[in-house]
Amino acid sequence: MSYALSIGQADQALRALAERYDIYAPKRFPKQGRFSDTDVIRYDKVERASDIVWDVKSDYPAKEVITPIQQAIFYFAEEEYRASRGRQRPILLFARPCDIHAQKIQARIMAGNGGFTDHYYARVRERVKFILMECAGGDDTCFCVSMGTNAVEPADYAAAVRFRPDGLLIKTEDPELEAAFSLGAPSDFAPEFVTENQRTVTLPDLEDKAVRQALKAHPMWRQFDKRCISCGACTVACSTCTCFTTRDLTYGDNPEAGERRRVTASCQIAGFDQMAGQKEFRSAAGDRMRYKVLHKFHDYKARFGEGHMCVGCGRCTHRCPEMISITATVEKMNAAIAEIKAGLAQSEQEVDRHV
Ligand code: SF4
Ligand code: SF4
Repeated sequence: MSYALSIGQADQALRALAERYDIYAPKRFPKQGRFSDTDVIRYDKVERASDIVWDVKSDYPAKEVITPIQQAIFYFAEEEYRASRGRQRPILLFARPCDIHAQKIQARIMAGNGGFTDHYYARVRERVKFILMECAGGDDTCFCVSMGTNAVEPADYAAAVRFRPDGLLIKTEDPELEAAFSLGAPSDFAPEFVTENQRTVTLPDLEDKAVRQALKAHPMWRQFDKRCISCGACTVACSTCTCFTTRDLTYGDNPEAGERRRVTASCQIAGFDQMAGQKEFRSAAGDRMRYKVLHKFHDYKARFGEGHMCVGCGRCTHRCPEMISITATVEKMNAAIAEIKAGLAQSEQEVDRHV
């Protein structure tokens, strides 16, 4: 059923749902942005409809609710340890189509991958119901249409919502949410999906192994050696990045008591791939950039066989302090691939002439 609710009715509905669910949505944090006097928009618990930022994309993705930047995984004291309990209440998570697609990608990586399910991911994910936030096309960094992540199916969400300055339109797919929203007037609302972004990207053709090998050695990656400062901001803001490390934190001056935390890690930061003996496979920033971009636009798909790992949310471009754009990088990669293919075709012709 679909309903039209005023702001007051939406607040009443959220209050009713908060008795059963923790409700998370993008929220504005004034003056906590990267530059002075700028705001940051990130996910947090909300209590009122007016808390929810719906007219601009959040700086950080919905993944922060499911895989937070840090979380305790167990507590220890001398010989004993206890696993952390994790979240106990179900979660309603307001998310745009790109963020819902991103969670399908994270689920493929974290749940059942190679027969192993990440317990700390699964215990939160199984409690989450999505409320789809209709998106009007995002900003000038978005390219979800190119990535095929602009639309989702009703099976992917429990309700879909269109915000308006004076209230919201909602369509429920889950009977558990019906009662809370039915205080609104009946409506014929059905969510619509963006069909065009300001930005587009051509997906690279990397089927040929010889082309992939040549691309890895292409000089295009060297431009990032100095330009990328290896801060990792792009991967923290990325809707789909999943890498983490662990850190032990001890309490006070007792090294025998503390907790082990799971902490977000970034393939863009030096030392990420360091092994015993100080060996690093990607010691230059350009090599780390190549690894990230190929992971998003080839390797994930080669592993899972379905879609690319990038959902086109544009958050990496938006957060990069060096203005490195993922779409511009992919287009540079496409130019390098065309150059490599032309070179390989020319070599083949020369071989044919000599046979
Ligand atoms: S690589 Fe960039 S555009 Fe793609 S999902 Fe990650 S943050 Fe979004
Ligand atoms: S691409 Fe940008 S955000 Fe990512 S590590 Fe390099 S400088 Fe930082």
